[in-house]
Order: sequence, then C-alpha cells, then structure tokens
Amino acid sequence: MKLIVANWKSNPKTLAQAKKLFNAVKETNAVICPPFPYLSLFKYKFLCAQDYLSPKKLKDLGIKYVIIGHSERRALGETEEVIEKKLRAALKAGLIPILCVGEKKGENAKRVVTKQLKKNLKNTIIAYEPVWAIGTGNFCSANKANKVREFIKEKLDNKILYGGSVNSKIAKDYLKIGFDGLLIGGASLDVEEFRKIAKNA
Ligand code: PEP
Repeated sequence: MKLIVANWKSNPKTLAQAKKLFNAVKETNAVICPPFPYLSLFKYKFLCAQDYLSPKKLKDLGIKYVIIGHSERRALGETEEVIEKKLRAALKAGLIPILCVGEKKGENAKRVVTKQLKKNLKNTIIAYEPVWAIGTGNFCSANKANKVREFIKEKLDNKILYGGSVNSKIAKDYLKIGFDGLLIGGASLDVEEFRKIAKNA
C-alpha cells in the first residue's frame, strides 16, 4: 500500500474552505497535514502535523504523523541537531515522523542526504524532497530521484516517499519505480488533481 501525504501548508485561506477540502479528499485515506491552527478541528485517522511544539500533546489529540526537517523549516534556521532532537522526541511520544531530506540546487544529493539521515530511524518515514523541486513545477524525474532512493535504501530499510512538484501526470512514475509514496504540496489543494494522484496509490 503506497502512502500519499497531502501537505496543505498554510492553505486553504479559511476554516470553511479547509473543511470543504477535507470532506472532498478524506475518502482517499491519504495522510492529511492541515494548517496548524486547524489540526485539532479534524477527526481523522491519518492526520499529520507540519511541525510541533509538544509531540505528546499531538499524540494526545490523536495525530498520527509529524513532518520533521521540511526545507521550509531548515530555511528558517533549523539545524541538524534540532531536527534530530525533534525526531527523537516525536518517536518517544509515539508519533510517526516523516523526515524530509534533499539537496539544494547545485548540491550533491547523496552527500547532503547522508548528512541529513540519522542513526536508528526505526518507525520513521523518509521523504526525499530535492529543495529545488519543491513548489517550482520543476520536478526531479523519477529515474533521477530513484538513484537517491536506492542510495538511501542501501543504508535504511525505511519507507521512502518522493516530494517535489508532483502532479497527476507523473505521480505513478515514482510509485512504479519503487517509491513507497508521495508527499504532495501544491497539487493537494486541487481536489480533482489530488484524487487522481491518490488513485495511483
Ligand atoms: C512540499 O512542500 O513538501 C512539496 C512537495 O510541495 P510541492 O508538491 O508543491 O512541490
């Protein structure tokens, strides 16, 4: 079973719109990451936080997953040390972390990913998200991304997702080539597009 994660970031603009979107996509059984202030307002088995302050409180709310080390957090100065601490605390609280790794434009993917992966990543999902591919429309081809997936797989036996400008036309390429799922940003806000992506899973 492939895992599809819908990262809404700070969208949609209102709670009413978020509820509408949620109702339209919940039957896909995808993991849904609503904006933080709305997180406790949804009752759903596969909710994911986009970051956290208190992992125990998230767990208590019934949240199952948490994204850690997203490039937007890293861009705000989150260091490897902080990411590792967050990861350990999330695991301890019983959440399933989705650890985002990936290189910036011009960087060596394998070198960066090696630095970003941690030891003892049991129960952690890895999301390979080349930073240059996030929100740019400039996705990393499935073949190219798969080289990094295989590299990670040599070290870890965890589930590995791909994220970065995935749309319904290319979603299945990543799943076919071996990724265990997808992390979807922009396309998760478009009901038809997202349903098509989820259908591939
Ligand atoms: C993301 O924000 O993690 C992401 C993958 O976004 P997008 O699909 O819009 O590139």
